[in-house]
Amino acid sequence: MQRFSLLSLVRHALSGHENWQPFWRTPALKPRYRIVIVGGGGHGLATAYYLAKNHGIRDVAVLERGWIGGGNTGRNTTIIRSNYLWNESGALYEHSLKLWEGLTEELNLNLMFSQRGVLNLAHNLGDVREGIRRVEANRLNGIDAEWLTPEQVKAFCPIISIDRQARYPILGATLQRRGGIARHDNVAWGFARAADALGVDIVQNCEVTGILRDGSRAVGLETNQGRVMADRIGIVAAGHSSVVAAMAGVRLPLQSHPLQALVSEPIKPILPCVVMSNAVHVYVSQSDKGELVLGAGIDAYNSYSQRGSFHVIEHQMAALIELFPIFSRLRMMRSWGGIVDVCPDASPIIGPTAVEGLFLNCGWGTGGFKATPGSGFVFAHTLATGAPHPLNAPFSLARFASGALIDEHGAAAVAH
Ligand SMILES: Cc1cc2nc3c(=O)[nH]c(=O)nc-3n(C[C@H](O)[C@H](O)[C@H](O)COP(=O)(O)OP(=O)(O)OC[C@H]3O[C@@H](n4cnc5c(N)ncnc54)[C@H](O)[C@@H]3O)c2cc1C
Repeated sequence: MQRFSLLSLVRHALSGHENWQPFWRTPALKPRYRIVIVGGGGHGLATAYYLAKNHGIRDVAVLERGWIGGGNTGRNTTIIRSNYLWNESGALYEHSLKLWEGLTEELNLNLMFSQRGVLNLAHNLGDVREGIRRVEANRLNGIDAEWLTPEQVKAFCPIISIDRQARYPILGATLQRRGGIARHDNVAWGFARAADALGVDIVQNCEVTGILRDGSRAVGLETNQGRVMADRIGIVAAGHSSVVAAMAGVRLPLQSHPLQALVSEPIKPILPCVVMSNAVHVYVSQSDKGELVLGAGIDAYNSYSQRGSFHVIEHQMAALIELFPIFSRLRMMRSWGGIVDVCPDASPIIGPTAVEGLFLNCGWGTGGFKATPGSGFVFAHTLATGAPHPLNAPFSLARFASGALIDEHGAAAVAH
């Protein structure tokens, strides 16, 4: 892999920057691989990278029906945090956050990972109780978490309104200082580049159209580029997890919904942290380009179209102005949508299926970007060994039969 450094920048400047290598190769699909991953989003690419790096398995292909990172990875609002309620989630998301902290150096690509702090605002007694409970639970799990008074919220984020007469007054907030944002495209590109350098084939414009079974075992895939056989198959196709799993006769407890985001015109730095509010329902940060990046809730209906309804945007704008009257004259520039696969307990599914050789990594709903490295790390272990890593063992499909749900609606109910 061509390394980026000050020296390489200077050297390439001398030749007019015309000799940079492409980030990854464009290989033809081989007839057989040891492991095939369906879906070239951040999670699929991270899985391939850790398979090669941690387990020495390089005979791997990532099949992406469009371009890598063109799904939710390139459409999300990039909020990263680990302050989930339950031990199982805390352990998984915190592991991921720790990986983020060294990822730019490891992948040798600037992910623009910025730990600027994430505030979750409380507007009513229920929010306050949930927030304080979560802070205590996080601390017990060794995750950094603080409870702030309204005045401390104002000191941390000076442009926020803490007017007690407001319709949704701010009664306090949780703060995770190690939380923040990153540049989503770079995350996909960084994992793709590093995986490719280790020998992984990344095959774009390759849509999986069928899963081949030999009795109780999944043995290969039909694609628009031909048939490919595999010892093990990982489905990491957010937005279409149920559709791909159904090709092998597996039914998933998922609902697919549109989720929208938008950006404002760029302005000078004014918002120093990430702010999220469940009750008024908006979350916002400011990108390094200066745009406000905004998200809200899912559209209530099921859909596979990457677009949502106007009333959701209208509600989101109203929530933004409620919290930040200063933004009332800001113009919005662009909006888009993704499709999120949501589990009944707002936690993901990572593990084997009843079909031998077929594994799932899905159901991250509105909050999987933050988990990208952690998810890839544990799923690579699962695919390499055939058994879950201790961190993803609780997130099995079987929990919907056993009842051992990991209900994160409190920490994940606001889409993020
Ligand atoms: C608007 C929005 C805002 C969000 N905000 C946040 C946030 O702030 N923080 C956070 O943590 N999470 C957020 N999320 C959620 C997050 O984006 C996802 O959970 C995460 O990116 C999922 O990553 P992935 O790699 O699994 O999926 P994706 O990036 O969607 O990758 C799945 C890939 O599978 C491919 N695929 C599907 N079907 C097939 C097939 N048949 N054959 C081949 N390939 C196929 C798709 O083309 C896609 O590229 C947000 C999501 C949206 C939509």
